[in-house]
Amino acid sequence: MDRLIRNASLKVSLITPVMNEFEALPLFLENIKSIFNSHNELNLEMIFINDGSTDDTLSKLLQLQEDDPRIRIINLSRNFGKEAALSAGLKVAKGQVVIPIDVDLQDPPELILEMIKLWRDGFDVVLGRRINRDSDSFAKKISANSFYWIHNKISSIKLPENVGDFRLMDRCVIDELNKLPESRRFMKGLFAWVGFKTTYIDYIRPSRILGKTKFNGWRLWNLALEGLTSFTPDLLKLWTYFGVLVSMFAFIFGVYVLIKVLIYGIDVPGYASIIISVMFLGGLQLIGIGVLGEYLGRTYLESKRRPAYIVSQIFEPKVNQ
Ligand code: UDP
Ligand code: MG
Repeated sequence: MDRLIRNASLKVSLITPVMNEFEALPLFLENIKSIFNSHNELNLEMIFINDGSTDDTLSKLLQLQEDDPRIRIINLSRNFGKEAALSAGLKVAKGQVVIPIDVDLQDPPELILEMIKLWRDGFDVVLGRRINRDSDSFAKKISANSFYWIHNKISSIKLPENVGDFRLMDRCVIDELNKLPESRRFMKGLFAWVGFKTTYIDYIRPSRILGKTKFNGWRLWNLALEGLTSFTPDLLKLWTYFGVLVSMFAFIFGVYVLIKVLIYGIDVPGYASIIISVMFLGGLQLIGIGVLGEYLGRTYLESKRRPAYIVSQIFEPKVNQ
């Protein structure tokens, strides 16, 4: 049955969050059109989520929609961030396969056809895996690598490395994702968590064609924190081990000092060692409290049960109404 469906004509949803991307839109659309024009068996819908743009993105989208009834526009009430915008898109997507794709052509649209081919072969998830990070800044390379390393060392849910949001997902995966209730959504983690039969396509990630990256260092750092703490409470456990280790060391050191005093008498008062151990322990405690605070903060936000985003309007193409 499944195989039969996978050979028939296919509804494909592209999900593109946009925030101040008005220059990049026309070129993106042109690229997508040129790929899908020769594939009549693919029934395309392009869902753009306007994530609180302050430029002409929305009016540009509305104008483009006049000419292309495959465009659907979701206007969020303010900037909720890419993760929330993606969730909003997944919620309304009607496709049998759904593909989140960036508007800046850093996710090469030509890969979509290859992804669909692999889907027809029976895979439910096809991940785009970048084989170079040349288009990233040095700081981003270092921080991305260390994030994946730390995350995958401590978490039981492994994030595939060098894989972004660009991927194909089958309807069954989307339905499961849409059921997840959390409002703080770290999409890479959620994608990995739901599982399903997965394969990869390797690609070279080009630089952004137009406009600027929306992720500066501080935003990336927060995303990494979100990723680490929203997917595993293991970071909390780490501090227990650290604490045990430090106390054991302190105990052994104490015994050593005691024996020394008993044998040699009282030494010159050891200010240095006292200060060092006080500061070391103080620092450790502060970090521990910080980690606790991070989790507590997340629990607090989650417990309010606020939605991940607010949709202010949905603009459906005129012909469908
Ligand atoms: N984006 C968004 N909301 C945000 C930040 C980014 O919808 O708050 C969109 C952005 O318009 C783009 C995509 O997410 O389509 C990826 O952003 P960007 O290219 O700046 O990220 P990078 O490729 O540098 O990681
Ligand atoms: Mg980009």
